[in-house]
Amino acid sequence: MTVAARDMNDTILRVDRLRVAYDHPLGAVRAVDEVSFSLRPHERFGLAGESGSGKSTMSLAILRMIKPPGRIEGGEVWLGDIALSTLSADAMRALRLAGIAMVPQGSMNSLNPVVRIRDQIRDALADHGLTPGRRALDERVAGLLTQVGLPADVAGKYPHELSGGMKQRACIAIAICLRPKVIIADEPTSALDVVVQKQVMQTLGRVQQDLGAAIILVGHDMGLMAQFVDRLGIMYAGRLVEVAPIRTIITAPRHPYTRMLIDSLPSLDHRGGLRGIPGLAPLLRELPAGCAFHPRCPQAVERCRTEKPAVRPMGPDATVACHLA
Ligand code: SF4
Repeated sequence: MTVAARDMNDTILRVDRLRVAYDHPLGAVRAVDEVSFSLRPHERFGLAGESGSGKSTMSLAILRMIKPPGRIEGGEVWLGDIALSTLSADAMRALRLAGIAMVPQGSMNSLNPVVRIRDQIRDALADHGLTPGRRALDERVAGLLTQVGLPADVAGKYPHELSGGMKQRACIAIAICLRPKVIIADEPTSALDVVVQKQVMQTLGRVQQDLGAAIILVGHDMGLMAQFVDRLGIMYAGRLVEVAPIRTIITAPRHPYTRMLIDSLPSLDHRGGLRGIPGLAPLLRELPAGCAFHPRCPQAVERCRTEKPAVRPMGPDATVACHLA
């Protein structure tokens, strides 16, 4: 295994000019376009954007889980001083869960319906060469279930015997069984009602603190992002168009798309109709020239129709891709 080194001061994960394409008879479609960002240890980073903006594809690319016809075209992901592209398939499999773990979007689809929760945790451990005896396994499972706020008897249950919130917590228990340094939570509460959603997010936040892990929360719920993350990245048409600390991005967004996403949030002071974003996100295989947002952007100028805006730093923690920022 080749391990390339670089200065990773205060950075646990670095995504560097990552590109993902999907092959299509009419030509390859780029779903993730030169995305770069880094994550500090313990940081909560949000990735938001409309459906099809590339945020879930990027999560899968970080874990090298893109399946054909998709492929990683270029760029690099570093976990600490390990360049993930240099790892063999076996080393990468070992790194999933132990280094970076995913809490998936649909717990119902990711839990095996015919295997008890204890055995699903046992299988995850066994995949990483750990085969504790029955007593040690029971203790470990009980500890994990307590950590995610589930009673110990959940160990002997099948997924269908659990509520939606309990299933999502069981998924979190599996994701943290090897104490990963980075947790990617892809819309972890999308199918849950608001009360359960809040409980699951509290559990996720507590677990993250217990482990001292960093977290990437992927989703489109800006209200949830505002409450949970330290820094937010906004994706549009496969690009990361803005990154900034959450307080800055909510109060003073630089990119017109971010501003419109925030303006579309319901507010208690703002009675009256909700404001949406006009038009639809473009199809990735029919991206407009120049800035992909220009057909929907109220501030677009002539230059926006022909010239793609570069991603520019805006201080140590922020970037933006807009000609006018
Ligand atoms: Fe709008 Fe132009 Fe900025 Fe794109 S580059 S977001 S079209 S102002």
